[in-house]
Amino acid sequence: MDGVLYHGDTPIADAFAFMETIADIPHCFITNNPIKLPEQIVEKMARMGFSAPDIEQIITSGEATAQWLNQQKPNFRYFAIGAEGLHKSLQKYGTEDMDDADYVVIGEGAGIDYQTLSMAINLIIKGQAQLISTNPDNTVDATRRGEHWILPGGGALVAPVIAATGVKPTTIGKPYPLLYEMALKRINLAARDCLMIGDRPDTDIQGAASIGMRTALVRTGRFLPGEKYPDNLYKPDIDNNSLTELLELIQA
Ligand SMILES: [Mg+2]
Repeated sequence: MDGVLYHGDTPIADAFAFMETIADIPHCFITNNPIKLPEQIVEKMARMGFSAPDIEQIITSGEATAQWLNQQKPNFRYFAIGAEGLHKSLQKYGTEDMDDADYVVIGEGAGIDYQTLSMAINLIIKGQAQLISTNPDNTVDATRRGEHWILPGGGALVAPVIAATGVKPTTIGKPYPLLYEMALKRINLAARDCLMIGDRPDTDIQGAASIGMRTALVRTGRFLPGEKYPDNLYKPDIDNNSLTELLELIQA
């Protein structure tokens, strides 16, 4: 979403035209950002001028984490560190429990400090809670006073817990398969019949290619026109500078 359709609150050129063009093709949106709830993303898209998607078309790593934990252990107990969206998603399926959590869940946003970190460590080492990370991104892009600003991502926020416990987390977001699998289920298609459009080679493209989806990179986010594609990653089937170019390709 961010880096493909918009930057922060600013739509990317041709994103509207692109969404109109694919309106009748089954599609959904997957994001590693666990901060916003799917309903908040629907609202945000409508506010920016997109025709509002159905809530089922939005899959966030926070929502996916909550649903996955519910499948692993119905009525699970958890302790979570991260912004409100993650807590709200987890509350739908589980119960917060600081004494006897089954899972310690680390998301993004404010919430990590000395106390919450201590709680997480003790629940894992002494209570045998399992460590879950919503997404592996080390940094995420944001805007501050109108300028580009970098925030710590889920990967950076789970790092102190890993350092203190020596435990490796189960990670839900891209490039791991779960978000893609949920998306395929929602649109009821096989991986080979889908095209993943993303702006990050290491997450969007790598994860989709590894489960057999076709992939299109748009160089409007983290990865810029002219940048050399990393040798160690799956190459995208389509490598475009922008949605404008991808649109031309689709319409040709
Ligand atoms: Mg992105």
